[in-house]
Amino acid sequence: MYMSTDEIREKFLQFFESKGHLRLPSFSLIPKNDKSLLLINAGMAPLKPYFLGIEEPPRRRITTCQKCIRTPDIDRVGKTARHATFFEMLGNFSFGDYFKREAIIWAWEFVTEVLKLPRERLWVTIYEEDDEAFEIWHKEVGLEPDRIKRMGKEDNFWEIGTGPCGPCSEIYFDRGEEKGCGRPTCGIGCDCDRFVEFWNLVFTQFDKDENGVYHRLKNPNIDTGMGLERIAAIMQEVDSLFDIDIVKAIRDKVCEVTGYDYGKDAEKDVSVRVITDHIRGTVFMIGDGILPSNEGRGYVLRRLIRRAARHGRMLDKKEAFLHLIVDTVVESYKNPYPELVQKAEYIKKVLYNEESRFNQTIDVGLEILESEIEKLKKNKETVLNGEIAFKMYDTYGFPLDLTKEIAAEKGIIIDQERFDELMQQQKERARAAQKELENAGWKDINIVIDEDIETIFVGYDTLKQEAKIL
Ligand code: ATP
Ligand code: MG
Ligand code: MG
Ligand code: MG
Repeated sequence: MYMSTDEIREKFLQFFESKGHLRLPSFSLIPKNDKSLLLINAGMAPLKPYFLGIEEPPRRRITTCQKCIRTPDIDRVGKTARHATFFEMLGNFSFGDYFKREAIIWAWEFVTEVLKLPRERLWVTIYEEDDEAFEIWHKEVGLEPDRIKRMGKEDNFWEIGTGPCGPCSEIYFDRGEEKGCGRPTCGIGCDCDRFVEFWNLVFTQFDKDENGVYHRLKNPNIDTGMGLERIAAIMQEVDSLFDIDIVKAIRDKVCEVTGYDYGKDAEKDVSVRVITDHIRGTVFMIGDGILPSNEGRGYVLRRLIRRAARHGRMLDKKEAFLHLIVDTVVESYKNPYPELVQKAEYIKKVLYNEESRFNQTIDVGLEILESEIEKLKKNKETVLNGEIAFKMYDTYGFPLDLTKEIAAEKGIIIDQERFDELMQQQKERARAAQKELENAGWKDINIVIDEDIETIFVGYDTLKQEAKIL
């Protein structure tokens, strides 16, 4: 049964509201008071203080649709049907309130009664030792034992270091044999796009101590995450998350501004999907206040913008074009994220500045890099030296990952050790220069610091100007 992405998002949140959950809006992509994370990558991430008991939640049951960024998946984007670096995660959470039984039964109810997915296409996995989950799926939900697959710790046990952790259970949809890889071993857990994992239910029931001993929590928690784009692709019966209503509109716009006909060339289609993914992530990141820079979050943003620009080149697009897609992204997301509407002009400026800056060096950079790669190939060598990789970074603005990626396409790797060394030297030089500058300042001018000066946020107009002179 076809359902629009907006409808699925709303139905999910309403469903869990009807089960006593408090609906909260998506948190920012920038984590608050959490140094362990650069960008929010799951619905539970901004709720950590509640899970850890550091803060009291406004209610013991919460439901959200959270914007997420996952750059570790970047190499898969555009190649699989199911990975993006930006996606939304629907979730229901229990802080010491309901547990495994309700989490499983409600998930099944939502999937089969609200979404009305045919049960013969649904499969679940559980952690191999979690007999409790098996009993609930089998006896209460009524799933046949051969539809409940037991998996090892790597796949179905969630933990990071010490602290709260526990087994999980994932729900899969079988998209049909024709979507599979055809290997005799193909099944759940196969890397192809036949069985799509779309919902992960995490049962946080242990506290792991420093000695690796698992203690049962008195008040266990529930944390679930369902990928909105994945479930939308299932509901809309389309090939990939780039074909769902709100994303397809953006994909079409990418084709329009680059003048490329989607479907003509498999490699170029990948570029279209990469741009479609990265423009969504960058719009949301800039909207949340991140600016391109050489460090941390800003660097992730820079890398996404520059990677998208390079894929633009692969579609023969020479001028800056990313800003031309912003209005379409805003149109796709303005219902759940109305704040994007006021930020659109600002976002376009930041994108335009970053892309045009890179445009000044990208062509020469690409030419140099490609000729270096050619030379290596001719000599049957496979390692690009660190000096060149560093020059690409320092002079031509190529993030290391971009250079790596272009080289890898031709089977070349990079001498990362040498690159790191050069990077370190540059940082030290910059630090020394900065110090000299500071000393000179104190020597040469008699600076008086006015203690009354305060920095105040004066709105996006000023930021606009800042963006202009970047
Ligand atoms: P996968 O094994 O497919 O990479 P995952 O196990 O890493 O997914 P979880 O951490 O369990 O994903 O996240 C919960 C849900 O979020 C997944 O079941 C999926 O629906 C969605 N999701 C995860 N990663 C992505 C991604 N890169 N793009 C789109 N949706 C994703
Ligand atoms: Mg993953
Ligand atoms: Mg998985
Ligand atoms: Mg998972």
